[in-house]
Amino acid sequence: MRNQLVDVLVEKGIKDKTVLNAIREVPRHLFMDSGFEGHAYQDKAFPIAADQTISQPYTVAFQTELLEVKPQMQVLEIGTGSGYQTAVLLKCGAKVYTIERQLELFKKTNLFFKKMNYRPKKVVFGDGYKGLPEHAPFDGILVTAGAPEVPRPLLSQLKVGGRLVIPVGTEEQIMTLFVRTSEKEFEKKEFGTFRFVPLLEDKN
Ligand code: SAH
Repeated sequence: MRNQLVDVLVEKGIKDKTVLNAIREVPRHLFMDSGFEGHAYQDKAFPIAADQTISQPYTVAFQTELLEVKPQMQVLEIGTGSGYQTAVLLKCGAKVYTIERQLELFKKTNLFFKKMNYRPKKVVFGDGYKGLPEHAPFDGILVTAGAPEVPRPLLSQLKVGGRLVIPVGTEEQIMTLFVRTSEKEFEKKEFGTFRFVPLLEDKN
């Protein structure tokens, strides 16, 4: 079923072999509540705990491809959710820091990582708007919730040459890539339209 999913993603335009390989290897059904197992290899988003969603495989693949993950790269993920995107980043060889603001999801997914022996560098309960200054700068930052605006701290926590992949917008979001070209300059590119649950600020 995972091979079929990879075929669908290739048809939709995903090319990066590392990303496709990761999708082929990560058992997505284990990241979902058992009632949804039969749906796990359809290219669809599904509900998880705390009214959140596990992103659509195409979206995960598209964002990971835009990030241009290389082994050992330091990546910050905002919105741990089910942990599926985290696992895909880990399979690509990244060192991953991930932040989740819903306590229930943070606890559940943190336990799940341990059980499955997935080893992100750090799983943090907190507000991703602020990034993770104590571990900055990052080679890549990936936001998995729709941001009404681009949080400044995330731009400032990128290395020169680093990439921020962030869906920007309220009702729907434009996938946006920022590449830090120098201390003070960023190159911005926009891709297609996507739909994410909202990036929410300051709950804690
Ligand atoms: N990467 C996840 C996607 C989950 S949906 C997966 O593969 O399953 C987006 C997640 O972002 C939700 O879990 C939501 O609670 C979280 N989120 C929203 N605002 C946030 C914030 N300010 N900081 C950290 N996480 C946030």
